[in-house]
Amino acid sequence: MPSRTRSTNRSVRLVAAALAVSAALTVAGVSEARADAAFQQFVTGFWPQAKKAGISRATFDRAFAGITERDPEVLEKANYQPEFVKTIGEYLATAVSDARVETGKEMLVAWKPWLDKIEARSGVPRQILVAIWGMESNYGKVLDNPAVVKSVIRSLATLACCDPKRGKFGRSQLIAAMKILQRGDVPSARFTGSWAGAMGHTQFIPTSYLAFSADADGDGKVDIWTNIPDALATAANLLAKNKWRTGETWGYEVVLPQGFNYARVDEKAGRSLADWQKMGVKRATGAGFPRPDDKAKLILPAGARGPAFLVLPNFNVIKRYNNATSYALGVGLLSDRIMGAPPLGATWPADMRPLSGAQVEELQRLLAQKGYDPGDIDGKAGPGTRDAIRAYQSDKGLPADGNPSTAILDFLKKGG
Ligand code: CA
Repeated sequence: MPSRTRSTNRSVRLVAAALAVSAALTVAGVSEARADAAFQQFVTGFWPQAKKAGISRATFDRAFAGITERDPEVLEKANYQPEFVKTIGEYLATAVSDARVETGKEMLVAWKPWLDKIEARSGVPRQILVAIWGMESNYGKVLDNPAVVKSVIRSLATLACCDPKRGKFGRSQLIAAMKILQRGDVPSARFTGSWAGAMGHTQFIPTSYLAFSADADGDGKVDIWTNIPDALATAANLLAKNKWRTGETWGYEVVLPQGFNYARVDEKAGRSLADWQKMGVKRATGAGFPRPDDKAKLILPAGARGPAFLVLPNFNVIKRYNNATSYALGVGLLSDRIMGAPPLGATWPADMRPLSGAQVEELQRLLAQKGYDPGDIDGKAGPGTRDAIRAYQSDKGLPADGNPSTAILDFLKKGG
């Protein structure tokens, strides 16, 4: 078994080299060299798991060729704690910038023949696909930036080896990444992605790539790194397989009537657009709802003072791409703007900065003390916490939007 002998020799050589280097270095240098030895040990120890998953020795060696140490930048990015969280308005100002809208319109024209085909095949409208492309990689512009075009294998092996929170993610993605290499869709040298392994124009992680990759141009390979039809068809496939409803949109910005009952916000079951209209809820543009029987839920992402939206089931399909309300809104709003819709009617309140995890925990504790059960005190403002806020607001005669704001936290802290 020549391949096995070669690998054993290689790993022994690598460890020996690292130890030799570490002996000759300063104290700081020694710990760095030891860290590299740990990385190499991880790689050597990972072979049986890879083999079990069907990876050949040749693929394994090709994957790790020239990769002998962790990528410290990956660990830095994985553990980055922003000083403050962006408000949703700040996030959307970048996500749905005028420049991004204009480029999106150009892309609709430039890629029309392919978009015709992909839309016909998947049932997902072109503007949603172009918006995802814009959100994920700024239409491929980020792929020119060396800082975000890292070796997928090295990034994932770094997470697998050395990040305590993402070890499991790193290992499963690393196996999927080697399967992609083994399939021959992309040569090792072009096998690049973000620090977390998100790849190509539409930023798929390896497991999602394996689940949804689509060969739009029919050349027998799926290349989401340089082939835009393949990248767009892969995004379309993800949405289609997650039950995109052809003919329905993602949602509408709406205006609520005076004295609106906020108990209707975040309801679990949808109501028909016709029912919402009967309650006085209108589209912000003043136009009617083109499909009054479609079901929708009401969300107020920044509370009662911010824009309101009726969102359809496709909103949740977009969240399968990235499970964040702000992201799905970004895709939806960008897709509308690309088709010529005006900007939002309402403005985002500038002071609605999302609470930090510690602040949410404090909010949960105060609610619990007052007898409003927020569920687990975990620093995450999920449906239970929002319901508790809503019940509390309602009892205090406040607009019961359920929004975990600094205002409601301050109100609780002052003993309200
Ligand atoms: Ca192809």
